[in-house]
Amino acid sequence: MASYEMVVGLEVHAQLATESKLFCSCPTDGFGATPNSRICPVCTGQPGVLPVLNRRAAELAFRAAAALGCRIAPVSIFARKNYFYPDLPKAYQISQYELPFSEHGGLEIRDKEGHTQRVRIHRIHMEEDAGKLLHAVGAEKLDYSLVDFNRAGTPLVEIVSEPDIRSSDEAYAYLTALKEILQYAGVSGCNMEKGEMRCDANVSLRPAGTEKFGTRAEIKNLNSFHNVKLALDYEFARQAEILDSGGRVVQETRLWDAERGATASMRSKEEAHDYRYFPDPDLLPLHADAAWVERVKASVPELPAQRRARLAAEFGLSDYDAEVLTAERALGDFFLEANPERGSAKTLANFITTELQGKLNSENIPIEEIPIKPLQLCSLVGLTNTGIISSKGAKEIFSEMWKTGKDPKELVQELGLAQVSDEGQIKAWIQEALAANPKAAEDLRGGKERAAGSIVGAVMKLSKGKANPALVNRLIKEAVKA
Ligand SMILES: [Zn+2]
Repeated sequence: MASYEMVVGLEVHAQLATESKLFCSCPTDGFGATPNSRICPVCTGQPGVLPVLNRRAAELAFRAAAALGCRIAPVSIFARKNYFYPDLPKAYQISQYELPFSEHGGLEIRDKEGHTQRVRIHRIHMEEDAGKLLHAVGAEKLDYSLVDFNRAGTPLVEIVSEPDIRSSDEAYAYLTALKEILQYAGVSGCNMEKGEMRCDANVSLRPAGTEKFGTRAEIKNLNSFHNVKLALDYEFARQAEILDSGGRVVQETRLWDAERGATASMRSKEEAHDYRYFPDPDLLPLHADAAWVERVKASVPELPAQRRARLAAEFGLSDYDAEVLTAERALGDFFLEANPERGSAKTLANFITTELQGKLNSENIPIEEIPIKPLQLCSLVGLTNTGIISSKGAKEIFSEMWKTGKDPKELVQELGLAQVSDEGQIKAWIQEALAANPKAAEDLRGGKERAAGSIVGAVMKLSKGKANPALVNRLIKEAVKA
């Protein structure tokens, strides 16, 4: 059996985060709404209507290009992509073909060991989405199909990578990095469940060590990053088997069937000429004014890679912590708004990535809606760092803050959670504990450090759990030495 190398290029559609559609003023909030309640003559392709480009959509598309390091074309052209399908009322989709608005960018992907690698982006163009066909209503299968045009005309960017991806893990890393960038830049919500981000994969194999690309299959219907990974691994095995048996891979479009965990042939791959592209005569060429482009470029915020570097440099966080905090922009924003001292940054990061993140997941609410303010969390962490409360107490206070939005300092008093750090009091408890546990006391004096555990336990019991543990440990050592 020969050994093969996987060659993958990804085409990602991302919905631009506009309030209205690409060429009309219908709202884009049609997901889950009554079918055909977000439509007008333009997005349903009625005769005599004219499309007008949504300025905000163009702005977000250009921002995506800037964030992905693409060159922006001074002039781009909208083209008609002709095909017939019942969810496409005009029988053509307005897209861009020969002159897309941006090309030649790229992004860095990282593997588990932290090695980075660049995946080039071939082009980004704007296009409108199609509608949606329904073949069932609820559990009831229909013997006819219904069409919902709420989504028709929704603004998308299609981001086409170069075939630089060599494994399903790299594909996963690419999609993760792309999603992070689009979300940080405010270009797209990238919610795959709502269809805001979709991916098609072109995959081919070639004998390891050779340059020439093999024949590729295009895989559609990949509705999660996990499925992209599974489908690529499946395709690799399928194509390798064909090649090993002396067969030839057919250029075709295949559908991923998540239930079966397999791809199946859908149709032979269409070529560009099948679509009879031509410039849309209803839309003027898009001239990107240089000053406007500069403004759009300046609107790109700090991106995940830059933020990770800053968290490490400014706050001394580890790669892992920086990674977790930047996976979602809002989480990192929360950390930065708490503005911790460098010394307590690590504890705050831990608290956010464990306690806070855990709570966000279990309650399933976005961080913007929680009753706790970043500065309050920072002050809670400060209370543990200075020994005023124990880490267990901090968790108790945290869940009370979550319920009431109260200030941690107030809650320390209210819940009686302040630790006792009075050395005199702790020494007295230690003497009492040593007297009550003569065997352990003797072992300790004889140098058996393990015996300290039962004395610590006794002191905690005497103090009703309020003795500062670090202090207790230190003072026990001093007491047995003396
Ligand atoms: Zn409309």
